[in-house]
Amino acid sequence: MKPLCVYCGITLGTTTDHVIPSCLFIPPLPVPYPKVPACAECNNKKSKNDSYLRDMLVLDLYCSEHPVAKELMKGKVIRSVEKNLSEIGRAVKTRLSRSPLYTGAGLYLGDYPSIPIEGERVNELIRTMIRGLYYDQLGKRLPDDYVFDIRRQDQIYVNEVYEIMNTLGANGPLTLGSVFGCQYLFDAKDHGISSWYLWFYGGFFLRVDTRPAKLAEAG
Ligand SMILES: [Zn+2]
Repeated sequence: MKPLCVYCGITLGTTTDHVIPSCLFIPPLPVPYPKVPACAECNNKKSKNDSYLRDMLVLDLYCSEHPVAKELMKGKVIRSVEKNLSEIGRAVKTRLSRSPLYTGAGLYLGDYPSIPIEGERVNELIRTMIRGLYYDQLGKRLPDDYVFDIRRQDQIYVNEVYEIMNTLGANGPLTLGSVFGCQYLFDAKDHGISSWYLWFYGGFFLRVDTRPAKLAEAG
């Protein structure tokens, strides 16, 4: 019997999904590579956002000098950008705001400038990536009623946040060559309360926190 799809938890996971979009790499893919069972519908839905994320990252000021980003830029991205430019432009448009940084366990770490990610397609993909990484690490699904807070970490503070995560005993880093890496913390009592620090092409840093919807409402 196949396990349930990691993403929807409803249908059988009849396909294998590469949690981090494989289009971010130039083959061959690093080994080991996080893969999870997914139903065809969720897998297809996720794939549709893959190249969008790739284009956004490769075009980003802080990623564009990475050798893999440069190589991708020369090929597929240029063509895709010609069709998608305005949408990508909206996604990378950002507004800076200070936001408190908490660990998964709710420990306040201070205010670090970070930016909401405005492209809903990117946010959707990041949520599925976190669900996939969570399953890959813990062998169970992140509960459906948990909410995500996704923010882009300001470039200036990335090393500081990395060290804080290490001090708190973060797991990882889990790295896929120099294209992707992450550190992560789970609350000891409720693993669904988690903090993730992700980076792409050494230049795009994201913080993702998950917690129960009830906790989120209470603030
Ligand atoms: Zn599914």
